[in-house]
Amino acid sequence: MAFKLLSQNDFDEIFEGKDCFCGSGASYEVCHREKKYRNPKEIALDQNRFMHRSRRCPVVTEGRNCEKPVIASHSQQRRGPLKLLTENGHVLGFSGGPNAGPRGESTPELTKISARKASTFPGLCAEHDAQLFRDIENQELKPNYKTALGLARRNTLYEAVVHTDATLFLNWLQTVPTFDFQMNTAGFTAELDNMRHYAAYNWYLATLISKIETRKSARKLYFFIAKIDACLPMSATGCFCIENDLDGVKLQKFSDTKRKFSYAQISVLPQGNGTTIFSISSTNDRDMHTSRKFLESFARCGAEELSNAILRTALEYTENIYFKESWVKTLSETQRNSLCQRFDDAAYFKVGLEKPDFSLARPLDIQLEGKVVASLLKTN
Ligand SMILES: [Zn+2]
Ligand SMILES: [Zn+2]
Repeated sequence: MAFKLLSQNDFDEIFEGKDCFCGSGASYEVCHREKKYRNPKEIALDQNRFMHRSRRCPVVTEGRNCEKPVIASHSQQRRGPLKLLTENGHVLGFSGGPNAGPRGESTPELTKISARKASTFPGLCAEHDAQLFRDIENQELKPNYKTALGLARRNTLYEAVVHTDATLFLNWLQTVPTFDFQMNTAGFTAELDNMRHYAAYNWYLATLISKIETRKSARKLYFFIAKIDACLPMSATGCFCIENDLDGVKLQKFSDTKRKFSYAQISVLPQGNGTTIFSISSTNDRDMHTSRKFLESFARCGAEELSNAILRTALEYTENIYFKESWVKTLSETQRNSLCQRFDDAAYFKVGLEKPDFSLARPLDIQLEGKVVASLLKTN
């Protein structure tokens, strides 16, 4: 299975002759092509529409794009971790997260998000979705290599699709619409570069992980995977560039000249049997020591400490994070604010801007119950 990397030409061609992303039913040419924006909120609304537009499956088989419509609902919603967090049809997510709608200027808040919309994997048709995720969706997850690999692949694909979308939207915003208000469109250029970089790199990682699985790559997947004896009140998935380890030791620095970094993939998935599977993996793309040292800092965590380290890491590095409302209600106002503040501190970082050394080591005044009962630190 291969995946298509979008080129600049694809960006130009993607809207031609299609229904407009806004859902008006009109073609793009007569609808949003010459959009005039009157305020930033309209942009945020359109970005949300764009991210939820109907998509085509990006899997390439025998040189041909699949192009079938992607599925709307994923088994995570129907049977998996999100169902366990859902109360009265919703979970709580951050107002600045990917599925929460337009974000204001202030610190993000925890808001109700329909479980149907939260964390939907945005990319594949029913057939390829089933093919790719069968191992990690339809059965209880076990802390082993197969699970770590499946979760790593799912995360990189998710990020690749989301960042490709963001690139497309920013690219379009910069070249097509006009603005009625003061807006520094030059400011997009840096962000567009970041998004392009992330999109391309995540497609590359998704392909690399497929090659690792079929043993067509000499690269390794380093992973630490743990089973926790409680259903943690949260789920999270994401990919991020490794910076500091859990002890606050700097492992990797950004630099303009190096375009390759060691990335990590994180998943926190509560299970139906009252446990939680936590997986963190890295493909040692830049150097093996960065991946290994980062994962070792998780393996060194005490059995009781890991759940809290997981919460900190998820807040620091994922947007795709959801909580069970009844748990959030048990927090004091101060704790709830610190949860939101921690997410906000991490939300808008860019490539080239480093996190402070203490970012992952800084404690959070919230205690999650849950002890590690099985774990594995390994390379394939
Ligand atoms: Zn439109
Ligand atoms: Zn497909």
